[in-house]
Amino acid sequence: MLTVYSDQISPRLKYICQAIFEDLLDVPYRLTDDQTVLKQADAALNYSNQVIADVPFIRPHALLYETGVRAQQVLLSAEKTLFPCESDFVAHDALSSAFFMLSRYEEYLEKERDSYGRFKSSSSLMGKSKMLHRPLVDHWTLEFYKTLQAKFPALPASSKKFRQLSTFDIDVAYAYKGRSWWRRTRSSVQDFFRFKFARIKERKSVLRGDQEDPFDSYSYLQKKHAEHKLDAHFFFLLGDYGKLDKSLSYRRKEMERLIVGISTWAEVGVHPSMASNEKPKLLQRECKRLQKLSGKKVDSSRQHFLYLDLPITYRHLIAQGIEIDFSMGYADHAGFRAGTSHAFRWYDLMKEETTPLFLMPLSYMDASLMDYQGLDPDEAKQHIALIKNEVKAVNGTLVSLWHNNTVSDHGEWKGWQAVFESSLD
Ligand SMILES: [Zn+2]
Repeated sequence: MLTVYSDQISPRLKYICQAIFEDLLDVPYRLTDDQTVLKQADAALNYSNQVIADVPFIRPHALLYETGVRAQQVLLSAEKTLFPCESDFVAHDALSSAFFMLSRYEEYLEKERDSYGRFKSSSSLMGKSKMLHRPLVDHWTLEFYKTLQAKFPALPASSKKFRQLSTFDIDVAYAYKGRSWWRRTRSSVQDFFRFKFARIKERKSVLRGDQEDPFDSYSYLQKKHAEHKLDAHFFFLLGDYGKLDKSLSYRRKEMERLIVGISTWAEVGVHPSMASNEKPKLLQRECKRLQKLSGKKVDSSRQHFLYLDLPITYRHLIAQGIEIDFSMGYADHAGFRAGTSHAFRWYDLMKEETTPLFLMPLSYMDASLMDYQGLDPDEAKQHIALIKNEVKAVNGTLVSLWHNNTVSDHGEWKGWQAVFESSLD
């Protein structure tokens, strides 16, 4: 077991040791400020300003001993590290660098947001350095631990293994089914005045039962995941109908049947509506709806539009009993927003405390590849393969985000079913 010594144990130091050794590496460790414990240790790291004979050391950057946020002199160096430091075994203070990334420190400093109020990938250090596809924190921790292992061969290896998980946001469960008479009629009238006669015809045909609903890709997805022995996780939008929340009503039988059916072969979580960001009471309501329909406790979530306002969004999720959230990714670019491909616990920088909420980082989303990065299906396949290799190299978890309509080869998503299928191999 690794013993980490520091003469001053701060909440940030406690957090980052837990995140690195438990969440990212899954190896045993202990943190102590007692030099007698350090002297008895078989394998140790000295994280203090005092040099101790025969113990590898990192002279700490101030970051882990500060409180609140302030403008930091942070630059990604030529060696792809953040906080260079004096040390006899690594080139940078890997603990501070990882803390800066995992706590999303930079998102509290940068005020610019996109039109939906989201932090942009181009504002981030990794985005500016064109490094979003690299899980840099994972590389730092692996390299840091490997160097320690070379000094102390008895240290156990990380037990982390590459894993792949498909996730789906169900914003609009069906293209035509599951709507009230009024909503159906209104859509037909709108289509008529927009000269969308093919849609009117298709709607009629689907509702008569002559044709499958084009967004109904659920049995296809079940079959594909069984064939590839892959896990899937579905997030359902169950908010009231609104400008940005176009879900079908949770009261419709079609929604109940769908959620019950999917719960038999995949995990199910809540997809909090955009309206719930303003009114947390709505989040509670949406969780209750899902719990009633699925018959299961709701403990996982992903934000609709990947909207995240730190620390508020995560605090609301914690208050609602959410244990793991899957929103840590950018809508406007594929890659690793927090620099890691492992699930890790969230640190509330404004309260200076480790929270019980786990964040499962996103690797890529369908709409980022097509709408924001403007990739065609072949380019998307290549980009996904690149990210997958990056995740494999660090034994991380590849988390894809698709929608029921984007895998159905319909409309503007023609050609993307092949992208989805190639991602499963
Ligand atoms: Zn959504």
